[in-house]
Amino acid sequence: MPELPEVEVVRLFLEDKLLNKTISDIEILNPKSFIGNPELVEGQKIIKFTRIGKQLSIHLSNKLILLVHLKMTGQLILGDKMLGHPTKFEKYPNKSTRLIFHFSPSCQRGGRGEIVFFNDQRKFGWIKLMSKTDLVEAQSNLGHDIFDSQFTPKYIFSQLQRSSRPVKQVLLDQHFFAGIGNIYANDALFLAKIHPQTPSNKVSSSQTKLIHQYLLKIMRQSVQAGGSTAKDNKYLRPDGSPGSNQFFFQVYQREGQPCLVCHTPINKIKLGGRGTFFCPGCQPLCNKN
Ligand SMILES: [Zn+2]
Repeated sequence: MPELPEVEVVRLFLEDKLLNKTISDIEILNPKSFIGNPELVEGQKIIKFTRIGKQLSIHLSNKLILLVHLKMTGQLILGDKMLGHPTKFEKYPNKSTRLIFHFSPSCQRGGRGEIVFFNDQRKFGWIKLMSKTDLVEAQSNLGHDIFDSQFTPKYIFSQLQRSSRPVKQVLLDQHFFAGIGNIYANDALFLAKIHPQTPSNKVSSSQTKLIHQYLLKIMRQSVQAGGSTAKDNKYLRPDGSPGSNQFFFQVYQREGQPCLVCHTPINKIKLGGRGTFFCPGCQPLCNKN
């Protein structure tokens, strides 16, 4: 599933290419992928892109917002009306294309308009049209975003104190923290030398400083690397290319391979139904800090 860094890469890319562009038409190939009246979007200019956690908001000139959730396999791919192959990687639309956004032609582009394909193989993702009030309400139950200035070691500590579930599960809970998914939770806990099954409220204040430091570090690095296109996900950048942060994974998807620090084979267990990777050497369960 695309996590904070991947959605941030998508946001930055689309902001660069589509800010102040006008959506002329939406083709809805799968009705469940679009919630709202598409006529209220057609003819509207995009005035801003924002993001909280894994959710992207596209703000329109009529003050309505398109809230995008890519879920497991969603992609937003930017194409070009005049080209048979909108990206150099694959031809779109493909069998996973659920929505197509057409943009008004512009003089700078020789009379051509952009096209955005919303592809979603597993159909869990969606784009929903809503008012500002509805957006605030929809996002009121989210924790602070990892890139928000309010995401501090003190905040992490107070949130972790609220639960006795394994720390890894609490990090993934979007009500506690917005934007952390399986990749970055596994790798941040490894770097902080905390066993993923440690009860959340037993994580010390000094350990939360490490979680803060490493989460920010690996998520910023991932944005620089264009996000992570892991073995089990479909994440692509909007130009159709994969990210390259998967080459920097610490423990995620490295089961049985030697730990990058102590060479102990990386272990894999299931926690809350999610694959959980850790080094038994670097992350002992009775970690008394
Ligand atoms: Zn190790």
